[in-house]
Amino acid sequence: MLDTRARPLHDLRISVTDRCNFRCTYCMPKTIFGRDFAFLPRSELLSFEEITRLARLFADEGVSKLRLTGGEPLLRKDLDQLVAMLATVEGIDDIALTTNGSALAAHADRLRRAGLRRVSVSLDALDDDTFAAMNDVAFPVSRVLTGIDAAARAGLRPVKVNMVVKRGVNDARIVEMADHFRGSGHILRFIEYMDVGTTNGWRMDDVVPAAEILARIDARWPIEPVDPSYAGEVASRYRYRDGAGEIGVIASVTQPFCGGCTRVRLSADGKLYTCLFAARGHDLRGPLRQGATDAELRTLIRSTWERRADRYSELRRARTERTPRIEMSYIGG
Ligand code: SAM
Ligand code: SF4
Ligand code: SF4
Repeated sequence: MLDTRARPLHDLRISVTDRCNFRCTYCMPKTIFGRDFAFLPRSELLSFEEITRLARLFADEGVSKLRLTGGEPLLRKDLDQLVAMLATVEGIDDIALTTNGSALAAHADRLRRAGLRRVSVSLDALDDDTFAAMNDVAFPVSRVLTGIDAAARAGLRPVKVNMVVKRGVNDARIVEMADHFRGSGHILRFIEYMDVGTTNGWRMDDVVPAAEILARIDARWPIEPVDPSYAGEVASRYRYRDGAGEIGVIASVTQPFCGGCTRVRLSADGKLYTCLFAARGHDLRGPLRQGATDAELRTLIRSTWERRADRYSELRRARTERTPRIEMSYIGG
């Protein structure tokens, strides 16, 4: 099954909640996601059974990798049960989780036993002041580091640590982060700040290009490129020449990778998005709850993918106005 740009479908990212205990300024700014913000009511969230049924149908259409995300996925009760259910789906050979790490220490063992293979933990700085300026709820760095260690101990290795870099906020911490994770066995990845959603006030001036990030690290510890581990890998890989491990950069703004984009996203309320920057999703929950057969749902999935033409990041530079689009916390990154 190929889309209009001859891209196959391999990865499904499943958002299990639109809620989060952080208010990262680049994702859920407090001015919008305040006390009165209307999050999805429980009844609108897909149940674990519904998610698993859809995952099975996606696997039939070529998906082999699943990633659970959110909002903060560990806020969804009994997430390990969902992992265990997804682990039984034929054709799925990889289940991963993206988390802010705040509750990871308490859950890592159970998730691993349920069948989770890998975890990516977001961490934007190593000092509490800078981290607080990013997460905006004064969450301490030490608890995220404890979560990272717990995940590694549970066997979720290597842990990937994702740092969103925002100029003037945490870019002075790039080398310090590299220093901390060098030799740890964890893989630190730097993410260019993106214009997802419409609430974070994104400006190109706030983006630190991946080339600049790499130059800063290379000046301290020389690095060299590593071949991608699989086709369509979004992170460009580098290793320290002295053997202290690997880092990655995700240059979605300065070096877009739409040509190899094989992912689709399922929101917590069952809408399918064929691009992170899509303005609208395709409802799967409606048909699911109205009794659609597996064949009908598969046709819906196939026709949505086969009509897909998205390449937002490649067109970003040519765009002059902001288009409507969904928020990262809703669709899960
Ligand atoms: N709450 C979890 C977390 O933070 O890992 C999972 C969901 S979060 C939306 C997924 C990823 O998107 C995180 O690594 C986060 O840093 C990243 N992200 C959110 N907003 C972003 C933005 N504007 N630009 C780049 N990355 C962003
Ligand atoms: Fe929450 Fe993750 Fe968004 Fe931060 S990036 S506000 S932790 S969903
Ligand atoms: Fe994929 Fe859309 Fe991102 Fe391009 S902009 S890589 S099509 S999600």
